[in-house]
Amino acid sequence: MTIEYSNVRAVVHLDRIRHNYRLLCEAAGRQVIPIIKCNAYGHGLIPLAKTLSPLGAPAFGVGTVEEAAQLREAGIGQRLIALLGPMHPNDYQLCVAEDIVPFVSRMGQLQSLHEAASNFGTPVDICLKFDTGMHRLGFQPDDLIELLSALDGMPMIRPVLVASHLSCADEPENPEASCSQGEQFMDVVRGLRNAGHQVEATLANSAALLGKDELGWDFCRGGIALYGANPFEGTELADLGRNLQPAMEVTAPVMQIQNVPAGQGVSYGLTWKAERDSRIAIVGVGYADGFSRGMSNRGFMNCGGMRAPIAGRVCMQMTLLDITDFEAAGKVLRPGDTVHMLGGPAPGTITPQELADWWQTITYEAFCMLGMNRHEYKDKGEPV
Ligand SMILES: *Cc1c(COP(=O)(O)O)cnc(C)c1O
Repeated sequence: MTIEYSNVRAVVHLDRIRHNYRLLCEAAGRQVIPIIKCNAYGHGLIPLAKTLSPLGAPAFGVGTVEEAAQLREAGIGQRLIALLGPMHPNDYQLCVAEDIVPFVSRMGQLQSLHEAASNFGTPVDICLKFDTGMHRLGFQPDDLIELLSALDGMPMIRPVLVASHLSCADEPENPEASCSQGEQFMDVVRGLRNAGHQVEATLANSAALLGKDELGWDFCRGGIALYGANPFEGTELADLGRNLQPAMEVTAPVMQIQNVPAGQGVSYGLTWKAERDSRIAIVGVGYADGFSRGMSNRGFMNCGGMRAPIAGRVCMQMTLLDITDFEAAGKVLRPGDTVHMLGGPAPGTITPQELADWWQTITYEAFCMLGMNRHEYKDKGEPV
């Protein structure tokens, strides 16, 4: 799963993860379930779980049942929630055997789980997932009566949680969607509880956790903010995530420095032309390392505190930087030096949102892609 062939490193600062988690718990005023699906948004599944376990995380949210089983195998004792739910035949038994709480969003899953639990002789805890307006996974609120009667015939199924997911929580200019989803969810939770199911409820993601106290319910689910990206960056609510600290930095080595005479072009297609006699640094990162070719002629890297613009097309394992201005600034860059695509020393520090904007994507995708590279972990600046 890790890219083994590259010189790119994703450096993860565990002290910043702890800082962000504490901040989220404080902001939520209730328990926060860390969402560490997809290898913890590229930050590393097991290291993140081990970092957050001692801070009182009540549960962890992962994607696949298999990811949850990996955490169990690593000795994580908390409740493990598989947000994608069981998909493969083997997943059902795995949920029962490893005490994994799957999101369940359709009747077929319920039946297969009941069967697996009956065969195994152990009841299985589940989270009922409702679609309250995003129209992705989930039972419809209108299915509640039918669902309740199905559950009556499935004594080995124990609904312990009910969940839904918000479509527009990070868009303060668009509050109607969350409002309507909140109302639908309230009806569902009441219906389940009135029918005697002692479910705990969870609706809020990072943005709702920071911005919408009334949608907090029993647990909030903290994903992107845990990694230090502000879900409200660039909106009127940006202050709510102001103190989050980006936990991931991404580095690559300088391979060579070239003098390029005025009028010459660089990289495939010669799409960047030197307007003056130029100095070009060749950096060992490309699209095979998860650094999108869409970054061609867009954005910057941070070379020891000073930014240099990307020149020409991003190649498979190389990207070129225009460092012509470095000399006048008294800055020297040499082969073997390390540059940052994300983070790095001030004043050139590149924030997740800046990188995502150049990339024309969201911070989530930038983390997931670059986080496929090999990791280094640091705690208060020291390697661990
Ligand atoms: C990924 C995910 C989250 C976390 O969302 P963030 O915006 O990263 O906080 C919460 N709930 C579900 C169901 C998810 O899939």
